[in-house]
Amino acid sequence: MNIVLLGPPGSGKGTQAKIICSKYNLPHISTGDIFRANITNKTQLGLKVKEFIDAGLLVPDELTILVVKDRLGKEDCKNGFVLDGFPRVLSQAKALDEFAKIDKAIMIDAEDEVIIDRLSKRRICKNCSNPSHLDWLVNGKCEKCGGEVYIRDDDRPEIIRQRLLKQKLPQDVIDFYVSKGIFEKVNSFETKEKTFEEVDKILQKICK
Ligand code: AMP
Repeated sequence: MNIVLLGPPGSGKGTQAKIICSKYNLPHISTGDIFRANITNKTQLGLKVKEFIDAGLLVPDELTILVVKDRLGKEDCKNGFVLDGFPRVLSQAKALDEFAKIDKAIMIDAEDEVIIDRLSKRRICKNCSNPSHLDWLVNGKCEKCGGEVYIRDDDRPEIIRQRLLKQKLPQDVIDFYVSKGIFEKVNSFETKEKTFEEVDKILQKICK
């Protein structure tokens, strides 16, 4: 099962990716997570991508596509994967098409106001990198593992606005997957469980 999750930042793609991966035992490939890990570890890639991420801009294709191609070539992706945050532009969708066969491209959609509210209240666990909403925390700690949480640098209001402006999912990416007959859209509901019910209906059809 090779799945692509599309949608604006903060639509809940990451949360849905984690639920899908845990239910179907698939690797969760998040380009944002890969970049952040490289920034933390001060790798060459990390140094190159930091300025783009800090400014709320997209990392150039030549870096992003290589990262994904390399990651999908790993053994754990042989039986499927969930790509979260890639592709974001048509050139990436076309490049992906050259090295992977995607079964479904599922767009998780949400209104701008919902996204701004969510991202400004998002907290990430330092321990298990679980994304939480401020309201889900237990005594200010991660509701999954009890770890300390932090606010992503790019979840500051001025950067959120920049990301929404510069990183709207382009219509041509949607059209690309529609034309292949594999595009699905799910609205991001109040709860992650309700959203997953809808996502899972789509996944169940692939399994049949
Ligand atoms: P995310 O965690 O998916 O919100 O990604 C965080 C940041 O990483 C984005 O704001 C971009 O700067 C960068 N990034 C992640 N995925 C991509 C991609 N497919 N293409 C370009 N930049 C990306």
